[in-house]
Amino acid sequence: MIPQEFDYTAPATLQEALALADGGERKLLAGGMTLIPMMKLRLATPAEVVDLGRVPGLASISQSDGLVRVGAMATHHAVETSPVTRAHCPLLAETASHIGDMQVRNMGTIGGSIAHADPAADYPAALLALDARIHLVSARSDRTVSAAEFFLDAFTTALEPGEIVLEVQIPAQDVTEGYKYEKASHPASGFAVVGVAARVQRSADRITLARIGVTGLAPSAFRARNAEQILESGGSIADAAAVVGEGIEPNSDLYAAADYRLHLARVYAARALQAALTRAA
Ligand SMILES: Cc1cc2nc3c(=O)[nH]c(=O)nc-3n(C[C@H](O)[C@H](O)[C@H](O)COP(=O)(O)OP(=O)(O)OC[C@H]3O[C@@H](n4cnc5c(N)ncnc54)[C@H](O)[C@@H]3O)c2cc1C
Repeated sequence: MIPQEFDYTAPATLQEALALADGGERKLLAGGMTLIPMMKLRLATPAEVVDLGRVPGLASISQSDGLVRVGAMATHHAVETSPVTRAHCPLLAETASHIGDMQVRNMGTIGGSIAHADPAADYPAALLALDARIHLVSARSDRTVSAAEFFLDAFTTALEPGEIVLEVQIPAQDVTEGYKYEKASHPASGFAVVGVAARVQRSADRITLARIGVTGLAPSAFRARNAEQILESGGSIADAAAVVGEGIEPNSDLYAAADYRLHLARVYAARALQAALTRAA
């Protein structure tokens, strides 16, 4: 398949990239793992492609004052293997290791993934469970939004025209907490049929903090707050997992009908929570 003819620009500075992102029939290019197939299928027909690959600093991963900053152009492989993410937000590193295959992890980026907001993408579950914030910039604006505010619907985010994802900001995980990402992968694509990211902090005999992010089940990833509350008020993992997805109309497709998907989400929630609890100090 051959894409429609397009112009290609590779800005060398962020200012240049922001100026180009602002208007016109343009598309930003990150890893190209989603955009290029869409262009080849002519589902996307931009007049110009603006490659972020030469903008300095966009792929950096750092930590200071308890905040981990992951640049939009950090690849899934970098997120998985960075000593910073492994030490300070291991749930994100673990989640990255579940994405696609090695080629996809070597090329795909966290910024491209969250901007695309596929309902079956892995990162959104972890970013919700980690209370992450997304830093968005344009030629005229500079703001951060919570992950919950960012992911609005299937393939729909809070990104305004001209805005780009600059970085993802994650409060460092407490060293005592347990975490786990559990995923039922689609056998053909590798995407999440459902994926559950769990974090648990505990005192001697009770859970003091629970965070559960769910992807794949609904048009947009969400936090299972009702299940978190059950755990934080002394309920069991089985009781908490049993309410995951309550009040949500589950996605349904040829591979996984709605009731099967809901069942999977609850099974994987129980597994993720149990593993997180076992890891918690
Ligand atoms: C075979 C295959 C298997 C996959 N399996 C999985 C999986 O198991 N789990 C999973 O989560 N994902 C999976 N993916 C998707 C993969 O993670 C992609 O990397 C990701 O969706 C897009 O990232 P990218 O960097 O390639 O972005 P691109 O394809 O370059 O861009 C995607 C979209 O985001 C926009 N964009 C890119 N960067 C920015 C930015 N900084 N700010 C604003 N907009 C931006 C682009 O304009 C475009 O609209 C798979 C992909 C393939 C091809």
